[in-house]
Amino acid sequence: MGEFDLIRRYFASDARALPEVPLGIGDDCALIDAGGTLAVSTDMLVQGRHFFADVDPEALGHKALAVNLSDLAAMGARPIAFVLALALPVERARDDDWMTRFARGLHTLAQRSACALVGGDTTAGPLNVCITVFGRVDAHRALRRSGARVGDDVWVSGALGAAAAAVEAIASGRAPAPDARRALEWPTPRLALGQALLGCASSAIDLSDGLAGDLRHLTDASGVGAEIALDALPYAPSLQAFDAPERERYAVAGGDDYELCFTAPVARRGDVEAAGRATQTDVTRIGRIVSGAAIHWHRGGAPVAGGWRGYDHFASRQ
Ligand code: ADP
Ligand code: MG
Repeated sequence: MGEFDLIRRYFASDARALPEVPLGIGDDCALIDAGGTLAVSTDMLVQGRHFFADVDPEALGHKALAVNLSDLAAMGARPIAFVLALALPVERARDDDWMTRFARGLHTLAQRSACALVGGDTTAGPLNVCITVFGRVDAHRALRRSGARVGDDVWVSGALGAAAAAVEAIASGRAPAPDARRALEWPTPRLALGQALLGCASSAIDLSDGLAGDLRHLTDASGVGAEIALDALPYAPSLQAFDAPERERYAVAGGDDYELCFTAPVARRGDVEAAGRATQTDVTRIGRIVSGAAIHWHRGGAPVAGGWRGYDHFASRQ
């Protein structure tokens, strides 16, 4: 059983029965009506799974919040507040330098994103950082995974693949390119772009587990397929050092990009580009939504049997 089957089997609940929950499990955030709609999401970072033991604590503080804000961005939500549940080895808790740097990474991004730390829980244990964020978005305008329609363009923000290349380098004892390490440790949540796409994009998801897997979540939720041009992908500049198949693998099957993948009607191309310019975020058109359920990958106009899958914590091959 994979990660997503596990969630469906044991934790899927029918929130639709509750008028205060317009959207439950299955998207980047849940939506809760609380005199206005709240977007809510949780992400946990576990040592040895999501970060290396010797990670820069300032980067860890940043990333723990950034990956949560990225889910708000994927709904077009504006951050309000977050809670922090922290398990810390005793020697870490006593290490003032480590704690100060962790807190600096966390608070700097919180301040920059106007998102207030309002509570949490702290316990001794193996290092584990779990954050829950709350944001605001109009339930009718929120960028759901399920809104893609046949004929829509498929877009991504920023550049892809650098974080995955950095993970592979570090895991095999090599030093990653400096901008690849930066992409891995200091992801930028695309909050401004997400909000600028409200009323323009038809669907969105953030790329945490790799384009192949996350685009599939979006197409499955929308009941459509997609055609993606590998030549059109915005490959991260640090991938120049690799040959084409490796570049593609990092950009398509690698995780941790925290860019937005979204769809919009062809008639809104100009608006998407304007949203990118207004928020100083690169946006690249990489394909289109088609009927069916498959994702078709193309290179130089010819079909490619990708066989790529997104990251799944419990997939049998891992
Ligand atoms: P994301 O990558 O956007 O954080 P995930 O892929 O982790 O989303 O999760 C997919 C959906 O399943 C989300 O709506 C998430 O809230 C929900 N989910 C994940 N784990 C659980 C759980 N243990 N209990 C209930 N819902 C869960
Ligand atoms: Mg997400």
